[in-house]
Amino acid sequence: MIAKTFKGGAHPPERKERTSELPIERVSPVKQVVIPINQHFGAPIQSLVKVGEQVRRGQKIADAEGRMTVPLHASVSGTVAKIESRPLANNLEGPCIVIEAGEVPGGDAFLPPLDPFACSKEEALARVREAGIVGMGGAGFPTHVKLAPTKPIAVVIANAAECEPFLTVDERTMIERPGDFVEGLAITMRIVGAPAGLIGLEENKASVIPGLEKAIAERGRGMDIQVKLLKTKYPQGGEKMLIVALTGKEVPSGGLPMDVGCVVQNVGTLVAMTEAFREGKPLVERALTITGGACSQPKNLLAPIGTLVSDIVASGAVRIAEEELGRVVFGGPMMGVAVPGYAIPLQKNSSGVLFMSRKEAAYFAEGPCIRCGRCMRACSCKLSPALLNGALKSGNLDEAEAIGVLDCVECGTCSFVCPAHIQLVQRFRVGKQLVRAKKQKEAKNAR
Ligand code: SF4
Ligand code: SF4
Repeated sequence: MIAKTFKGGAHPPERKERTSELPIERVSPVKQVVIPINQHFGAPIQSLVKVGEQVRRGQKIADAEGRMTVPLHASVSGTVAKIESRPLANNLEGPCIVIEAGEVPGGDAFLPPLDPFACSKEEALARVREAGIVGMGGAGFPTHVKLAPTKPIAVVIANAAECEPFLTVDERTMIERPGDFVEGLAITMRIVGAPAGLIGLEENKASVIPGLEKAIAERGRGMDIQVKLLKTKYPQGGEKMLIVALTGKEVPSGGLPMDVGCVVQNVGTLVAMTEAFREGKPLVERALTITGGACSQPKNLLAPIGTLVSDIVASGAVRIAEEELGRVVFGGPMMGVAVPGYAIPLQKNSSGVLFMSRKEAAYFAEGPCIRCGRCMRACSCKLSPALLNGALKSGNLDEAEAIGVLDCVECGTCSFVCPAHIQLVQRFRVGKQLVRAKKQKEAKNAR
């Protein structure tokens, strides 16, 4: 099999060896969860429960009307102790429902199972929404919206590249649950009416192929599903790079994968799809990797949504060398967000937490731009990160928009190759939000 790829990109050290052989362990028991109410990309939702109320695991605890909304479910049974603002993984504060875990009569409040290959498309989309499923590898985009494209879809791509250094949870999921992963892909293909499915894997995970091929034969429903190898290169798992590598098609500037007949789904999201139909299980837990140079006992874990990372550390499930700790990052080192502490809850899209050593953190200390042009050569979206950085630093949002900040896929390659360690991707992430807010304000004023 010849490995496919895209132009540009970088080769950061992989650092996956500490956890790639470690099975996913369940974090248990959890005494308390702090569930952020708004974990999805889209319109806000509101709490449906009150302080003092008993809730069952899987019960809907927040929701709202509207297409770009996704309901939220209790990840443990227990009593609602507080509804209050808490620090979140995006470095902002937001409303959270705090549940003290405990026995509640009735057990789990899951949905009834639903056959994804016998129900109607409308029933299937309603199930995906009711189960609270969002993209678990990125910004938390509502999956029921992604699976209702307005253009014909030729191929569903399972994004199994896991190109972020350190993270190994997708690889472990494919080793431990290949059938549920493949069935999630088959379900997605049926919902969007795609005749083909592709699983895009980086070469460093080629050992999972025999297990996947067996699962395709057993759980692929006779559909046209193929495994494709990709070069191990960052950001191979970026949607646009994955599509161009696997299909040869380029998503146009400002466009979406459906513009070139594709839908892309993350590994965890596909497993959550299978659970939502086969078990009626809402998205109440997720697997993640906790590792880094200051983590003396790294792990792949499965934890209820809303588990505080500090509680995982306190339970002894992972061990941190506090004297070595330089920085805590939610996500991978390329696209993740540095946070001031770790009393922060896991969300639906938390794929990893890094406890970086002082040495690793010092590597990221920022200096002045030396105009070397490396960021421009590495950017797979053909942008000029140094110019974008200058425009955003000077507050010139019009200039930033004109030179393409909204086309940045936030892959972090420019930050990685920058010898001055400038936090380019972090600035572009905020810059995109500012440009979008400005455009919305202008559109509102023009009405
Ligand atoms: S400018 Fe955006 S798309 Fe280009 S390398 Fe940087 S983060 Fe990636
Ligand atoms: S890589 Fe860094 S130092 Fe070089 S031009 Fe880009 S921003 Fe400046």
